[in-house]
Amino acid sequence: MRGHPPLDGQEDGAGRRGSMVRRIGTIGFLGFLLAGLAAPTAPARAEAPEPDEARLKAEVFTLASPEFRGRRGEGGRKASEHLVEAFRGLKLEPLFDGAYTQPIVEGTTGEVLGRNVGAKLVGADPALRHEWIIVSAHFDHLGVRRGVLFPGADDNASGVAMMLEVARSLALSAEPPKRSVMFLGFDLEEVGLYGSRYFVEHAPVSLDRVRLFITADMIGRALGGVCRSYVFVMGSEHAPGLRPWIAAAAERRPVTVGILGSDMLLLDRSDYGPFRARKVPYLFFSTGEHPQYHTPGDTPETLDYPKLAAISRVILGVVRRAASAESVPKWNPVPDHPLSEAVTVRDVFRALLEHRDGLQIGSSQAFLLTNTLRKLEAIVARGSITPGERAGMLNAARFVMIAVF
Ligand SMILES: [Zn+2]
Repeated sequence: MRGHPPLDGQEDGAGRRGSMVRRIGTIGFLGFLLAGLAAPTAPARAEAPEPDEARLKAEVFTLASPEFRGRRGEGGRKASEHLVEAFRGLKLEPLFDGAYTQPIVEGTTGEVLGRNVGAKLVGADPALRHEWIIVSAHFDHLGVRRGVLFPGADDNASGVAMMLEVARSLALSAEPPKRSVMFLGFDLEEVGLYGSRYFVEHAPVSLDRVRLFITADMIGRALGGVCRSYVFVMGSEHAPGLRPWIAAAAERRPVTVGILGSDMLLLDRSDYGPFRARKVPYLFFSTGEHPQYHTPGDTPETLDYPKLAAISRVILGVVRRAASAESVPKWNPVPDHPLSEAVTVRDVFRALLEHRDGLQIGSSQAFLLTNTLRKLEAIVARGSITPGERAGMLNAARFVMIAVF
């Protein structure tokens, strides 16, 4: 996930966090556990395989290890090679004209800045295989700065681990998907979504054949370290027909999926941005920012692996439905915001207020939270929300995102 815009509205191109009301500066100690490197095993087909918690964990520990140097520069190249090996091991076909990698080339100088990595699983139905579902996650992070490693375990080894496990589950399913599915690791997200921007400009298939784009960025923690049960999903406002699939995929999973509008965030915080601009239906999954966001303390031992596994299974469920349904909900130009969004924001505000001291929430912020919470409780009890009420909720949520995190 790339940083917030600074409060003066100027974007920080280096991907660092902009000026904030309060910076939580945690210099974490570098206690890495190089545990659980997955032993190569021969993949076997299963009826309906699912993302596996132990493999997700092993993948996060691998990508966040010092060997990958915070996945920038040489470390970024190493991470891309690691993804190529993973795709090859799953016997997925290369996405880019026989190659697994797409060099990201600077327009004027021709310099190669980084590389996206992609693989495909061609759909089984001849009538539908020209339609595509994308499952993606950025693999780059902040590198090593002044000798200090930024491991980026949540941001975004967690998302990459999900993407590889979804790829594995689909590749080894007894019943392959009807539509084609591509699996993408984006590079250079942290510097300003370079990888995904380059991809949409140089897509290997026409974007009007992409029925759904899914990305996940930071799915292993909890918003503010306190919203334990929640994963948030944005983008369904442009394709509300996806919501029943999300709900069905989340049923009986130990995670709560909170629907939010993408306008909760002040700018495109992750790789869904370039796809949204092209009106490709998208879903963006994230558990949100936490005190170790973009610090050396974003280490693999801080992640909640049962939660990461549950989220990965929810995403797989959505992908399976989208890949084999008769039709996929089209882009809805007028955003549709459900009442459940107010329920989600209410729960978040409640959790923040409960942990007010630990999160060092000041009195003016607490006042705003309390006030908004009271209104949200009335809205939820009434069972409807007016555009004006939503605007108020949106302003409060945006302010909290910037001021508290
Ligand atoms: Zn980030």
